[in-house]
Amino acid sequence: EAKKSGGSQYHIYKPEMFTRVAQRVELEGEVRQALLKQQFSLSLQPQLSAKDKKLIGFEALLRWHHPERGMIPPDEFIPILENSEYMIELGYWVMRRCFELVSEFLEQGLIDVRVAINLSAMQFLDPHLSDYLRQLMRRFNLSAKHFELELTEQTLVSDIDTAIGVMTSLKKIGFSFAIDDFGTGYSSLAYLKKMPVDVIKIDKSFIFGMLENHSDYQIIMSTIAMVKNLGLTVVAEGVESGAQLRSLTMNDCDIIQGYYFSKPVPEVELKSFLAERLVDGYWKTQAKQH
Ligand code: C2E
Ligand code: MG
Ligand code: MG
Ligand code: MG
Repeated sequence: EAKKSGGSQYHIYKPEMFTRVAQRVELEGEVRQALLKQQFSLSLQPQLSAKDKKLIGFEALLRWHHPERGMIPPDEFIPILENSEYMIELGYWVMRRCFELVSEFLEQGLIDVRVAINLSAMQFLDPHLSDYLRQLMRRFNLSAKHFELELTEQTLVSDIDTAIGVMTSLKKIGFSFAIDDFGTGYSSLAYLKKMPVDVIKIDKSFIFGMLENHSDYQIIMSTIAMVKNLGLTVVAEGVESGAQLRSLTMNDCDIIQGYYFSKPVPEVELKSFLAERLVDGYWKTQAKQH
């Protein structure tokens, strides 16, 4: 067990290690309970085409409503659960819920919408992932075209040959792939060429200061140009202002995700949110100008 989680991180025996292990064990127990007690839910953040504000789909973002600690953001428990079998179980719950949501969208007439699902390295390299997804497709009678799987650069470069194998087999049955947080990891341009990815999501850390910081701006614009030249789709995440939106749209960015249009919407509010904000699958009002 120490070997599995360790590698170079824990060569030296540190007191901190006890805390970390204890914290993880405690968290694993809580996650199991939370799954049983249905304390998890998803929030869905809309993705819109930059050009015409058509709803392309949503990213599914996990939320944990802890009875004592309140809402715990995913960044606070997912990294700790990584390397734990509970991450796999929690991930299965997320995938199943996403299939249920797509079924509901179809019933509501949102027929082209797709949901993006985040996969951690552990989930992606789980040997049962593909079986589980196929099982969901049968059970819900849904095509894989409604789903995009988001991976980070770290996940992809951890074992490139395995990654390409898994992606190729899932792409064959219709899933698409996005590289999340693009620009923050270690991927090289050579990997981009080899990987069967469909979508690149530029990390929000570049978007936040893009209009003030010249190098962030240049990085974004050259990434957009490169991604489009490769024939892939580019998403900007973390778009908060109308000025950012206009600049990205002018420079040919395909899809926009960010607080400017909407924060992630709790699943229970989704139906009324859509009724309020969409007309025939397009974003209704010209969102407020900044
Ligand atoms: P991510 O996949 O990069 O998701 C985007 C994050 O950026 C979300 O944070 C979202 O709420 C936030 N965001 C989007 N637009 C804006 C904006 O305009 N401004 C600001 N300030 N933030 C924005 P969230 O929901 O806290 O999720 C954090 C991370 O947790 C995700 O980053 C992802 O890595 C992980 N995560 C969330 N749900 C899941 C899941 O179901 N499975 C796995 N494996 N990881 C998940
Ligand atoms: Mg993501
Ligand atoms: Mg991201
Ligand atoms: Mg992230």
